[in-house]
Amino acid sequence: MAVIDMTQDSHLTHAIWNGWLSQDVRAIIQPTSEAEVVEAVQAARARGGKVKAIGGRHSFNNISFSRESTAGRGDTIVDVGGLRQVKSIDHASGKVCVQAGIALHELVAILAYHGLALPNIGAWMEQTLAGVLATGTHGSGGRYRGSLLSAFETVRIVDGTGTSRALSDHERGFLNLGCFGVVTEVTLACVPLFYCERQKLLVEVDAAIDNILMHLHQNDFVDLRWTGRLRTGTLTTWNRTERRPSLLDRFRTWLEGYLLGAVHVGLANYPYDWMPQWLSNQVFAGVGAAYTHLAFQDSQVDIWYRALTYNSRAPIAPHDEFEFAVPIAQAAACVHDVRRILAKHPQSAGLEIQLRFTGPSRLGLAPNFDRETMWFNFNQFDRAGTQSLMPELTAVVLAHGGRPHWSKNVPDDFCPRAGYGHMIDEWEAVRRGCDPDGVFINNWYERYIAPALTKNS
Ligand SMILES: Cc1cc2nc3c(=O)[nH]c(=O)nc-3n(C[C@H](O)[C@H](O)[C@H](O)COP(=O)(O)OP(=O)(O)OC[C@H]3O[C@@H](n4cnc5c(N)ncnc54)[C@H](O)[C@@H]3O)c2cc1C
Repeated sequence: MAVIDMTQDSHLTHAIWNGWLSQDVRAIIQPTSEAEVVEAVQAARARGGKVKAIGGRHSFNNISFSRESTAGRGDTIVDVGGLRQVKSIDHASGKVCVQAGIALHELVAILAYHGLALPNIGAWMEQTLAGVLATGTHGSGGRYRGSLLSAFETVRIVDGTGTSRALSDHERGFLNLGCFGVVTEVTLACVPLFYCERQKLLVEVDAAIDNILMHLHQNDFVDLRWTGRLRTGTLTTWNRTERRPSLLDRFRTWLEGYLLGAVHVGLANYPYDWMPQWLSNQVFAGVGAAYTHLAFQDSQVDIWYRALTYNSRAPIAPHDEFEFAVPIAQAAACVHDVRRILAKHPQSAGLEIQLRFTGPSRLGLAPNFDRETMWFNFNQFDRAGTQSLMPELTAVVLAHGGRPHWSKNVPDDFCPRAGYGHMIDEWEAVRRGCDPDGVFINNWYERYIAPALTKNS
C-alpha cells in the first residue's frame, strides 16, 4: 500500500479533475487490497481522524474532499484506483464481480471482450464504479429503461468501524454519497453486448421539447442540446441495432472524435482573462453555431459505450456544471422559462445546455427518486462570463421542482428538506448505522446534509 504522509509543513494536494478546486491534505493512501483499506480506516479512526475515499476526481464540488481541520487542511484521502480487478464473470447470468476502483473505460472494454455490457452509461468514462454508485451517475434513456445504477446488485464496504462487510438490502436502497464507508467491491448485473445506431438531427429546440414524449417513445435513447441563445439545437437519438460498425462508421467516429477534441483543445487554451466579454460572446456564439450546424447528421453505428458517450477519453475543456433532475411533466415549461432568460443575455453563448431523460430511481436521495426525469445540465464553458447568470437560471429550474445532482454545483438556495422531505432523515439513520462516529463526514456533508436534518434523526 502506498502511503504518502506529510508533516505539518509540507503540502500534499487533492484536486478535482479540472484543477479548479483543491485542498491540502494530511495523507493520501493508495490501497491495493480490501485489507489495506481496513488498515487505513482503523488507523485514522484510532487517532480521531477523518477519511474520504476518492475515485476519478470527476466531481465538480468538494464532495470528494476530506474534512478540514482547524488548520484548514483535510485529513486522509483513500484513493481506490488500485482496486480494479475483475474477480469473476458468469457468462450465463451476466453477473460480474469487480473491485470498485476500476474506471468505466477499463471495465466496459473488459465486458465487451466477454460479450457483455452495462445497461447504460453517462457522457464520460473516466469515473470509477464506486464514484458512479456514490453520486448516482446517469446517462439517458427513452424507450430503453436500463439505468447504470440498476446494475449494482451487491456492494462491499469498509464501514466507519473499520469492518469490511456487504451492505444490507436496506442500506443499498440509498445513494451513499461517499458517506457510508469505502466501497471496495460490487457485483453487477450486466446485459448482452449491444450496438447502437446514432442519428443527430438539427431541430428547433422549443418544438423538440414540446414533442419530447414522442421522441422518447420512438427511440431507445434521446439527448437534446443547444448552446446559449441559438434557436436550433441537436436532437440525438440512438437505437439498438444488429448491424455492426462498417469501415465508414469507424472512420466517421474517429474523425468526429478528432474534430471535437480539437474544439476542446481550443477552448482549453482560450485566453479568458484578457479577452473582453463582448468578444468572448462572439467567439462562443460562433463556436456554438459551428458545433451545432456542422454536427455529423448521417446515421452512425458503434459499440454501445462509444456511441452513447461524448467522445470519451478525448480531451475535454475545463468547465463547470450545474445539473438538476426535473419532473418530466415540468420539462417543456422549464426549458421555455430558461430559454427566455438565455435570450436576454449575449454571454449565455458560453453555456451549453444538455437535456437527458431517465425513469425513476428507487434509491433514497437520488435526484430522480420516484420521478420520471428530465436531467437539465448547464455546461459552463465560459465560466467567468456566465457565472452571473447562474443564480437566475438555477432558481427557475429549482422552481420547476429540480433537485440538484449532488456532485455538481448545488445552488445555495436549494433546500434538501424541501426536495426530499423525511427521506433525508432515513438516509441519515443509514449513514449513522454504517459510520456511527462520523469518520467519513466532510465539509460537503456539513454544508448540504447536516443543516437539513431534524433534531431526532
Ligand atoms: C467530464 C465529466 C462528465 C460527467 N458526466 C456525467 C454524466 O454523464 N452523468 C452524471 O450523472 N455525472 C457525470 N459526471 C459527474 C460524475 O459522474 C460524478 O461526479 C461521479 O461521482 C464521479 O466519479 P469519480 O470516480 O470521479 O468519483 P470522485 O469524484 O472521486 O468522488 C465522488 C464521490 O464518490 C465517493 N467515492 C469515490 N470512490 C469511493 C469509494 N471507493 N467508496 C466510497 N465512496 C467513494 C467520493 O467520496 C465522493 O463522495 C461527469 C463529470 C465530469 C467531470
